[in-house]
Amino acid sequence: MPETLNEEQRALAEQAGRFAEEVLLPLAGEDPATARAEVIARSKAAGFFPMTQPKAFGGTEAGALALCIVRDELAARNAPFTHAVFGPGPGVLGGATGPLRDSHLEPLLAGRLRAGFGFTEPDDAPAPTSAVADGDVWVVNGQKSYVTGGADADFINTLVQIPGQGPAMLVIDTNAPGVHLARRFQSLDGSHHAAFEFSDVRVPAGHLIGRPGEGLPRALRQIGDTRLAFAASGVGTLRWLDGYLIGHLKQPDRTGRPRGDKEGVRLRYSDIRLKAYAARSMVYRTARLADAGENIVNEGIACKVFTTELVGEAVDTAIQLVGGAALVVGHPLEALYRQVRSLRLAEGASDVLRLNLARGALELDKGRI
Ligand SMILES: Cc1cc2nc3c(=O)[nH]c(=O)nc-3n(C[C@H](O)[C@H](O)[C@H](O)COP(=O)(O)OP(=O)(O)OC[C@H]3O[C@@H](n4cnc5c(N)ncnc54)[C@H](O)[C@@H]3O)c2cc1C
Repeated sequence: MPETLNEEQRALAEQAGRFAEEVLLPLAGEDPATARAEVIARSKAAGFFPMTQPKAFGGTEAGALALCIVRDELAARNAPFTHAVFGPGPGVLGGATGPLRDSHLEPLLAGRLRAGFGFTEPDDAPAPTSAVADGDVWVVNGQKSYVTGGADADFINTLVQIPGQGPAMLVIDTNAPGVHLARRFQSLDGSHHAAFEFSDVRVPAGHLIGRPGEGLPRALRQIGDTRLAFAASGVGTLRWLDGYLIGHLKQPDRTGRPRGDKEGVRLRYSDIRLKAYAARSMVYRTARLADAGENIVNEGIACKVFTTELVGEAVDTAIQLVGGAALVVGHPLEALYRQVRSLRLAEGASDVLRLNLARGALELDKGRI
């Protein structure tokens, strides 16, 4: 427990821990659709669901620290179905006004419509996805390659290039003529994605979010929020791993002595533990900075890269310390190994984020140590 949490925040942490133990863990192995519905209902009743939603739509708009506390506690139980705990946030649609607010934002927040996020394009795309004005519509052509949940999405918040004006975010309905679901696939962690092709898709002019040229900052802001979320869940996972390893290292090995008696094993375990302390400290500090209204773009990058790389290293080391049993399908470490690998690519590849961090310091004079 980070020492400086106040009484209310400690109560929130305890409530989140209980939710994981009493609601999420008993659902392990349940049918995903049934479990999702159950988690949403129970999370609404417990008050977690609206934390990510704007007050104007009935949400409670929790701050970064409160969200961090809940994510940390859920992940610290290695609980399933945590993705269903929070209600859909507004994402890039947050600033939508006019018809989009009623037609897309409100039903998205109420859970009646589902959205995907179209940013990544295939390496061999002949040209970036573009939108060209034609009267009161945008004509969109191009491809997106890795839209999470895209096959079930009603619309995709899509990054497009408007010739002469720069990047923009456009809401594209997946049932619009010219939208082709080219491929659906699953990644190692079990999540589902889709690739789309757009051929002369005619999108109403009002589906532009913000102004032309604003697209990239809007998209990056959405990714920035998600980076801190990854990091907060990552520190929770590190705590779960720590507890698991403590249990394992106290058990006797074939000689009858505790596994953790060997100095070499202790050194490896300590390495995880000291870095986990650094990770948890940095994530909570960054959440507090965000709540104080500070710009945390660079700190969020640092948290995401450090924590997701550390979780990967820690799960790998834990498997090594436990031995072959940890690789048997169904073992919690085997499942975690698959789950955490994608985190170093999703929401920004580690090395690309490193370059952004260096640019922040060297060219923009941004970021803290
Ligand atoms: C689980 C998961 C969910 C995802 N969900 C979405 C989604 O909903 N919407 C979406 O749009 N995308 C999504 N993505 C895609 C994700 O954003 C990309 O995988 C990520 O941004 C990396 O891009 P890329 O795969 O094209 O790899 P590339 O950009 O080709 O990078 C691959 C590697 O090349 C190297 N590299 C690339 N550029 C540089 C550089 N400038 N300097 C040094 N090294 C470099 C790095 O080693 C990097 O890891 C998801 C990915 C995953 C794994």
